[in-house]
Amino acid sequence: MCGIVGYIGDKNCVPILINGLKRLEYRGYDSAGIAVIFDHNSQIVKNKGKVSLLEDKLESLHLFSNLGIGHTRWATHGIPNELNAHPHFNSEKNLYVIHNGIIENYQTLKKGLQKLGYEFITQTDSEVLPHLIDSFLKKGNSLFKSVQLSLNEVEGTYGIAVVYEKEPDKIIAARKGSPLVLGIGENENFVASDVSAILSHTKQIVYLEDGDIIQVFKDHFSAKTILDKDIEKEIHEITMTLDEIDKGGYSHFMLKEIMEQPESVRNSMRGRILFDEGTSKLGGLENVAEALAASNRIIISACGTSWHAGLVGKYMLEQFTRIPTEVEYASEFRYRNPIINKGDTIFFISQSGETADTLASLKESKMRGALALGICNVVGSSIARESNAGVYTHAGPEIGVASTKAFTSQLVVLSLITLLIARKKYMSIVDGKSIAEELSKIPDKIAEILKLNDQIEEIAEVFKEAKNFLYLGRGYNFPVALEGALKLKEISYIHAEGYPAAEMKHGPIALIDENMPAVFIAPKDSTYDKIISNIQEVKARRGKIIAVASQCDNEIDKIVDYTIKIPDTIRILMPLLTVIPLQLLAYHIAVKKGLNVDQPRNLAKSVTVE
Ligand code: GLU
Repeated sequence: MCGIVGYIGDKNCVPILINGLKRLEYRGYDSAGIAVIFDHNSQIVKNKGKVSLLEDKLESLHLFSNLGIGHTRWATHGIPNELNAHPHFNSEKNLYVIHNGIIENYQTLKKGLQKLGYEFITQTDSEVLPHLIDSFLKKGNSLFKSVQLSLNEVEGTYGIAVVYEKEPDKIIAARKGSPLVLGIGENENFVASDVSAILSHTKQIVYLEDGDIIQVFKDHFSAKTILDKDIEKEIHEITMTLDEIDKGGYSHFMLKEIMEQPESVRNSMRGRILFDEGTSKLGGLENVAEALAASNRIIISACGTSWHAGLVGKYMLEQFTRIPTEVEYASEFRYRNPIINKGDTIFFISQSGETADTLASLKESKMRGALALGICNVVGSSIARESNAGVYTHAGPEIGVASTKAFTSQLVVLSLITLLIARKKYMSIVDGKSIAEELSKIPDKIAEILKLNDQIEEIAEVFKEAKNFLYLGRGYNFPVALEGALKLKEISYIHAEGYPAAEMKHGPIALIDENMPAVFIAPKDSTYDKIISNIQEVKARRGKIIAVASQCDNEIDKIVDYTIKIPDTIRILMPLLTVIPLQLLAYHIAVKKGLNVDQPRNLAKSVTVE
């Protein structure tokens, strides 16, 4: 999920690797390291924290090498510390691997390797790679073949680069699910997870596809698939600016992160759905699963967007597990002497895992004996460390201040938790299976909605001058209405409110006139007819209506001004789809107003103050 850079050529690779890693810093990371090969010898230097600290360490070592790899880690397995930082190596310390992504079957691979006598020293999933490759080298295979054979045993995602003292003329690199490119220079070549890391050296780029594995020498390269098919790779000339590249070709991180959601959501569910049993497998909850299912009550404590995810979680948990669930603003919860009983389970949701109010409410709850479970994106964060157990969302680093992909990943995790508990209680295997099946289709459906970007941009053009917005939804889509309104407020500074649609007539209806846009989340579900009545009420007062509706709904176009048509899914998963157009709408309105979308005024990404 984080950064890779590699060099082979005539120059000293150390400053090239360090500068490359610095170029990748904007993505967020927790530790960094490099490994270099020289004269059939090697050296590895790693540390927790910033690349500049790594640079300081390297300065005194005066290393000179023509071959090396560097990594910035964004931990997914194992806390961020020096030991878990990449590169990882074999027992002889002559083979080095850097890895981005998640190895799903690392436990199985690790057990097999341990039986062969391999010793593991880190908590990461990635460490299986050097040992696995080593086991093939020991059977007399070349480095290329050993990496290729290893990758055939790996399930999950990877972008990797490998160097080996005994074959000091090459880097082996491969990808599946994590980006990787090759940069072609004059008597030098580069590999990187992101063009920006190497753009100051070359503009000649080869993009690796999933399943590609390359051998990179200083003056040529060759490519195959991991199944050993020959392939031809095309060299592209880069014309984008560095700023454009950092943002993956998008104008803002927020848009990049919205567009990444098919992938981030897939990562959140990767390896966690048990299709045959119609349930989920969440490693972090294994030891507490029984206690969780036996909870008398569940409380969800969170702030902001995470609070909205929690509210969707309440609807999910109460519908399928029948455990009474309350959602609390962490700031209120911690100060109002909450009632916490034995048998209560409390979830703490935070993207950063550092949200001050959520963390304080966690400490208070633990003190009172509740089972405290974290749902965080950042591995090793304070909430992750302080909770009794928990689940990582694996959305990848989120840079835009307004949360998008972290929200949808939280929803995936909450649906997996619901499935886990519900199957232990009343849910039949048939129902469990159908939810699991539907969940696995969500990434493709999100991708389909993202294709409506241009249409949503046109709607944004119409409403960019509006002073107020109402967002209305019912059931599972009420929290989505809140989230849609929050997104708009955060980045466009337009006043917006989210309401349960039926509450409209108890107050907000007074605001409606021809200048007031109302966004209705109105997919065809059990409350559809009711929401149509609410739409009619707004229409009767000449309000302008944007509806997020089902693709199959041809009637709604006749009554509303603008429709955004999305695919269908089951109710519990609907928020994963309905929120996407609202993120895009907020984004485009803010851009059209000329505002700083990624760093809106007065807001911080990680709210570490009360
Ligand atoms: N899963 C690996 C780890 O936790 C790689 C993380 C990354 O992509 O930076 O070490």
